Formats: sequence, C-alpha cells, structure tokens
Amino acid sequence: MRIIEKTIEMQSFMTQLKYSEKSIGFVPTMGYLHEGHLSLLQRAKAENDIVVLSIFVNPLQFGANEDLSTYPRDFNRDEKLAQEAGVDIIFYPSVEEMYPKSSSIELNVTKRVNVLCGKSRPGHFNGVVTVLTKLFNLVLPTRAYFGMKDAQQVAVVEGLVEDFNFPIEIVRCPIIRESDGLAKSSRNVHLTVSEREEAVIIYKSLMDGKIALEDKKMDIEQVKLQITNTITKNSSGTIDYVEILSYPMLETVQNVKETMIIAVAVRFSKVRLIDNMLINI
Ligand code: AMP
Repeated sequence: MRIIEKTIEMQSFMTQLKYSEKSIGFVPTMGYLHEGHLSLLQRAKAENDIVVLSIFVNPLQFGANEDLSTYPRDFNRDEKLAQEAGVDIIFYPSVEEMYPKSSSIELNVTKRVNVLCGKSRPGHFNGVVTVLTKLFNLVLPTRAYFGMKDAQQVAVVEGLVEDFNFPIEIVRCPIIRESDGLAKSSRNVHLTVSEREEAVIIYKSLMDGKIALEDKKMDIEQVKLQITNTITKNSSGTIDYVEILSYPMLETVQNVKETMIIAVAVRFSKVRLIDNMLINI
C-alpha cells in the first residue's frame, strides 16, 4: 500500500495507471474509518483493479460553528484498517496541499440544496463539490463509491458528475448500521453513554415511518409528525429536520409512487446525527 501526500505525485501516479488501462475504484472519506467506510472499500475492491482511499477533513465543507476542530482523526489506525481492506493507495493530503492559495473560482450548488442538510448547513455542499472536483481530477477514478448514509450528498454528486461530464460512475452503497440500528458514523464517538442509548430511536422511528407509508396507514404529514414526536419524547436530542421528499431530486412529493426519502437530523450535546431511508411504494 502506498501513501501519497502530494497532489502532483498523486496525479502523475494515477495517470500512469490510467494509461495502463487499470480500472480505478475511489472511496473519498474524512477518515476515522468504520464499517461503513470499509463496506465502500470492499465494493470498490470487488469491482476494480486498483482501490484508492482518500482521507481529508475538508475545511470548506464545515460551517464556522461546526465541528472541524473536534472531528475525530487517527491516521495510524486508518492506515492499518486500509491495509487490511486491501487498499492500494491512500491519498492523505494536508489542507495547504489541497488549498495552497485562495481560489479564483467558486462552485455553487443550485439544485437539491435548499433542503435537509443543505438548508441547515449553508455552503456545505459547495465545499463538498469543490473538494470532489479536485479529488476526481487527481485520482482519475473509473468509479467512485458513496454511502447512502449521506443521501443528499449522493444526489448532489450525481448532479456534479452529470453537469460537468466527469467520466466517472457514481456507485450508491447501502447504510451500514450498528446491531441496534444506529447508522455507523465517525461522529458517534462524541455521543455520551445515555445519548448513545437514546440515539437508536432515530432508526426505530424511521423504520416505523417507512412501514406506515408503505402500508398506506398514514400520509406524509402524519408520518413526519409521528417521527418528530417519537424522537422528541424518547431522547434528549433536538430535531434539526424531519423531511419526506422525492429522491434523488429532493423535491416536494407529487406522487407517492416515485422513490421517496425520509430524512432526519438530530442534534445531541456534542454531535448532530443524520439518517434516512428510501421508500418505494
Ligand atoms: P465521511 O468520512 O463521513 O465523509 O464518509 C465517507 C463516505 O463513507 C461517504 O460516502 C459516506 O456516505 C460513507 N459512509 C459513512 N457512514 C456510512 C455508513 N454508516 N454506511 C455506509 N456508508 C457510510
């Protein structure tokens, strides 16, 4: 396994591999790897000749009052897990390496962004598409793997690839959960013991909502209200949003026969958790 920290080395190494017609599977992450990340790496390994993992906590996608400085990091642990997962190359640049000078062009996401996390985290997805545009140009992947844990990110990235004609296949990967249903996240380490116990209510309420919609026992507004009430009653968390929208366009649902997403974000004392489920009726 090779670890590359410099953009210029990354691009020239990947260009050689590209010319030798290797397929390249790319998993972009912010590190502090868990089974969710590992499932993306496994899929990339199964479908490509070469697997590239990037580890970069991208300051551009964090708001001023968000958790950039406390975001968990442990490169040595990540390196070991990546080795075990069969990663060929870790791209591990510094912030100065990725953003050596102030930018002369800014990307601005205009669709699928005024809802969910885009609404509560203004500028977040502009930061995400900026770093991914750079990473795609450095890694030159055939396929890039994204978790449906961040379903809005998947939708935005699909828009990026379509709008800018990146020759990259975006692969949607399922959410990996703890045994009690909580979606795995690097940020879960910041939950207190009691918050960790309470947090399972997010999964349970989503599951109940999904079943109620699929069985046509409730309409969209009733399901949103039920999820909000269940989480509020059974946890110390504060609801950031509970939404049901079309997927991947993330618009108001016109016809319940289209694919829908139930998405929630809940703030605990030191961490904001997101989760979602897709619904096909
Ligand atoms: P992050 O390091 O949080 O930026 O995540 C990197 C990638 O891993 C993103 O595509 C995430 O959607 C994905 N990911 C994070 N958590 C999970 C999970 N529990 N299941 C599946 N994919 C995940």
